[in-house]
Amino acid sequence: MNSKIFRAIWIVAIAVFLASLLLIMGSLYSYFSSVQKNQLRIETDLASQGVSLSGADYFNNLKTENYRITWVSPDGEVLYDDEANTAIMQNHLERPEIKQALKEGFGESTRHSYTLEDQQYYAAKRLPDGSVLRLSIVQQSVWSLLFGFAQPICFVIFAALILSYILASRSARKIVAPINEIDLEHPNQYFGQDNYKEIEPLLRHISAQQIQLKQDQEEIEKAALIRQEFSANVSHELKTPLHVISGYAELFENGLVKEEDIKPFAKKIHAESLRMTKLIEDIIELTKLDNGGTEMKWEKCDFYSIAENAVDTLESAASDMNIKLIVNGENAPVTAIPQMIYSIVYNLCDNAIKYSQPNGYVSVTVTQNDRHTVLTVKDTGIGIQEEEQERIFERFYRVDKSRSKEVCGTGLGLSIVKHAVMIHKGNIRLNSVLGKGSEFIVTIPNYPGIT
Ligand code: ADP
Repeated sequence: MNSKIFRAIWIVAIAVFLASLLLIMGSLYSYFSSVQKNQLRIETDLASQGVSLSGADYFNNLKTENYRITWVSPDGEVLYDDEANTAIMQNHLERPEIKQALKEGFGESTRHSYTLEDQQYYAAKRLPDGSVLRLSIVQQSVWSLLFGFAQPICFVIFAALILSYILASRSARKIVAPINEIDLEHPNQYFGQDNYKEIEPLLRHISAQQIQLKQDQEEIEKAALIRQEFSANVSHELKTPLHVISGYAELFENGLVKEEDIKPFAKKIHAESLRMTKLIEDIIELTKLDNGGTEMKWEKCDFYSIAENAVDTLESAASDMNIKLIVNGENAPVTAIPQMIYSIVYNLCDNAIKYSQPNGYVSVTVTQNDRHTVLTVKDTGIGIQEEEQERIFERFYRVDKSRSKEVCGTGLGLSIVKHAVMIHKGNIRLNSVLGKGSEFIVTIPNYPGIT
């Protein structure tokens, strides 16, 4: 980076220097040209005074080193020329400077000489006798000017190269030094500092990313911990029924079961294996939800029909306890994952029946407005103490352990409900009074993305 910045600064410096040099040379050239022209005008004036006074004698022994001098008669014939043979010279009447001088008294022009092969500047003056005296000088080209200045220019270029090299490398080092010193672990300490003004957006970006990374890391650690706890709980919960089953099986094996105990013991084994099956089913469902329900398909479906199906399945369980199970509402079209909606209604109703006294009452209601669908599952059951109401949604949490033993459950039902509701971007509320009953209210948007 250092060498890149250095190269950029150096190139810019040299480019600016060369451009300035060109401009200066251009101005110098036009300045020298105008000085040269002025000089020629004065010389022409002086020479014409000489010729006026002395006539052709003026040219005798005349030394004209840098100048060319031509004398032209009023009809354009060349009377004298110090550099060319007058005998072979063309009539000069059409030369612009002569034409102008004849007309206006003085004329000038710059052009390629027809007679001598270079760029010439001409100044001509009409003499009192009507003839014209013309002086010309070779006009210096830019190249000859450059050539004339070659030595100082080379020196200046050389000095400029060295100077710009030193300055560019110093500047590059000065720019890069604070960047190299940045402590990327704590970029926010540089906010507002003069040295870091230009790269503050970058520092802010790094800082934001660090915060994000830290949060992600915390979340990953939290998720790992939850998974660890979950696995420990799963093993524990599976061990209990397995111990019961193996205990009874051992009794059977050793022929220690009395005739009248066979049936209740077999019933116990059956109940425990059902509990294990339910536990495994719930774990599988929860794992699917943990993956965000990605394997399950979102579909257009009717919330009310799904609720009816779930309630139908639980009808016999309700009638076993003589509980009245009622579904209210009307068709509620939604875009949702049907298995999850089923699971929500099923688990809430199952709990409402399980945690009710015989002869109770459970009502399931589905209502809808233009944005949301609301499911209410209300029971006249045992109710939940206020301090337990938050916790019952935790995995494996069961309110009254001794009572939970009587009622078949895994402690996973409400976690499944909560998770499924979350995936549908909805929410769940609970109103419950101990000894009187509970009401679970689930609200989900009718269409995902529109809340
Ligand atoms: P479980 O398999 O034990 O029913 P849940 O996660 O479904 O697991 O419920 C957690 C606990 O919340 C239950 O053990 C129970 O104590 C309590 N609970 C859930 N629903 C009700 C209800 N409708 N009435 C009273 N208590 C309930």
